[in-house]
Amino acid sequence: MSSFKAILISRDEEKKQSVEVTELNENDLMEGDVTVAVEATTVNYKDGLAITGKSPVVRHWPMVPGIDFAGRVISSSHADFAEGDDVILNGFGVGETHWGAYAQRARVSGDWLIKRPAGISAKQAMSIGTAGYTAMLCVMALEAHDITPERGPVVVTGANGGVGSVAISILSKLGYEVIASTGRPQEADFLKGLGASEIIDRSELSEQGRPLGKERWAGGVDAVGSHTLANVIAQTKYGGAVAACGLAQGFDLPSSVMPFILRGVSLLGVDSVMAPKAVREEAWSRLASDLDMNKLDALTTEIGFDGLIGAATDIVEGKIRGRVVALI
Ligand code: NDP
Repeated sequence: MSSFKAILISRDEEKKQSVEVTELNENDLMEGDVTVAVEATTVNYKDGLAITGKSPVVRHWPMVPGIDFAGRVISSSHADFAEGDDVILNGFGVGETHWGAYAQRARVSGDWLIKRPAGISAKQAMSIGTAGYTAMLCVMALEAHDITPERGPVVVTGANGGVGSVAISILSKLGYEVIASTGRPQEADFLKGLGASEIIDRSELSEQGRPLGKERWAGGVDAVGSHTLANVIAQTKYGGAVAACGLAQGFDLPSSVMPFILRGVSLLGVDSVMAPKAVREEAWSRLASDLDMNKLDALTTEIGFDGLIGAATDIVEGKIRGRVVALI
């Protein structure tokens, strides 16, 4: 393929951002020791912020957005990868500082890639995407803190979103009782289908609350931040833990030390972008075994390359349910 399709975000002298679908050549690609034919990508919240320009996600201009892909290696000078290998990439600044996934070709450092586990197709890998892989990291963080199903329910905020919907699916398969917090109660049947046993309205958590509330859950997976995270922490049972990975409501955390010093509650930070390779490999291997692929299908909407820009706008407006996968 001499030229290939790509989405390019540019900025003019007045720093006004524009987005176009264009044709690029392999020579245009940035430095890297592995070139990949992108087979599937997805739309994460961060991709929505990059394409709409709502937050300063892009830090190199022009930029091919897209923070994650699944594809097949075309050429490699990296010791761990050879032509024909099936790979996954999540994060490492791809789509932010290094040209990313919204193109039919990507050139990256082999240190950023992992081999796609057997049992997960390229399409399934990107149905999971960075959101789903982050959900797995959150579950692993809770497990490492000994939050077992016997200790009580786990609350998942932003339940209809990518992180939330995959987190519910994994937790329910692992035997946890899951409480889903959502602003879209009309999706209750969908959330119950994924394995939530109780649905609460997100307004219960999104306003300023008390430093300590009734003890409701042993753990939490929070993709929302701000007052929601503060209230989730304040309502966590003695010795419980909350994995925090997102900021859909806000990046502030208007909390107090009370849950930490009176109930021994722990706040577990989860980052997917720079997570070490061994942690990534463990998370992806766990996804192959602990995520019900029928539920993944149920929470996934499939689009083509041409649907990426629209879906990126939709995710920032909170209009996407579950996950979106784009076949490139
Ligand atoms: P989505 O947009 O798919 O989901 C976010 C969900 O949050 C929405 O579906 C909605 O759920 C809820 N929500 C949206 N706005 C608000 C609001 N104002 N107040 C309360 N709830 C709200 O995004 P993702 O699931 O892909 O990502 C979730 C968050 O996690 C994002 O902030 C993202 O940047 C972050 N993230 C972090 C990663 C990391 O490495 N730490 C990796 C991946 C994502 P509902 O309709 O059910 O209420």
